[in-house]
Amino acid sequence: MLKGKTALVTGSTSGIGLGIACALARQGANVVLNGFGDAQAAKAEVAAFGTRVSYHGADMSRPAEIEDLIRHAEAEFGGVDILVNNAGIQHVANVEDFPVEKWDAIIAINLTSAFHTTRLALPGMKARNWGRVINVASTHGLVASAQKSAYVASKHGIIGFTKAVALETATTGVTVNAICPGWVLTPLVQKQVDARAAAGGLTQEEAKRQLLAEKQPSLQFTTPEQLGELAVFLCSEAAANVRGVAWNMDGGWVAQ
Ligand code: NAD
Repeated sequence: MLKGKTALVTGSTSGIGLGIACALARQGANVVLNGFGDAQAAKAEVAAFGTRVSYHGADMSRPAEIEDLIRHAEAEFGGVDILVNNAGIQHVANVEDFPVEKWDAIIAINLTSAFHTTRLALPGMKARNWGRVINVASTHGLVASAQKSAYVASKHGIIGFTKAVALETATTGVTVNAICPGWVLTPLVQKQVDARAAAGGLTQEEAKRQLLAEKQPSLQFTTPEQLGELAVFLCSEAAANVRGVAWNMDGGWVAQ
């Protein structure tokens, strides 16, 4: 379905980004990976689907490196057809204790990086009159939780950004949408499970059950594979007129 297309997935060395990269490669897309950690392992996992895979280690908090990442994708594959803005970080603290540098990093990586990738990739998509921008927001783009002010602000912000750019591109072959996962058991959430287990003297299983029970009525984690298939749908022709949505996959979290 996506043969001949190029997908750039930011923050795709682990978790949801890697799941989305694999799902797009399974559909035939060439993939540009990005993120920290074990790039070689991620590359091997995605390359197993038989498409071309490249990696660029841009720090998504740095605009000049983001520009270099887009230029790299253009040089390697001729352009970005599918842009998945996924890189993200979390920090948990009450607002009066929130480290200023953490606030700045969360806004830069979770929100501002999508502005830069989008402004740089959009002209090519428009010229080819086909493109998909998928912003990985969160249930925290729709509702809040205490002690996550920066994250909630960044995720509400990216949903607003999604809607604005969806309107700007509404008459083109480029669609812009957000997806809103609930709890997904990735390194980002494992840290929160560990903190809960340590604070309450709980086992890992008890901490996971407690975390889910607070927010996610299905009591099941959403998986990177399921989110990958949602991204594939948004890339399909059936989704050509899905524009500016914030689509949750959250086990009922925001239905409450
Ligand atoms: P993760 O920690 O497994 O992955 C984050 C990725 O971003 C990694 O590849 C990491 O290397 C990369 N990254 C972090 N900082 C970066 C930077 N400065 N520059 C480039 N890459 C950077 O976490 P995840 O849970 O897979 O999160 C992916 C996205 O999904 C994030 O935007 C997160 O907010 C969102 N999300 C996660 C959940 C969840 O429950 N895990 C729920 C809703 C939304």
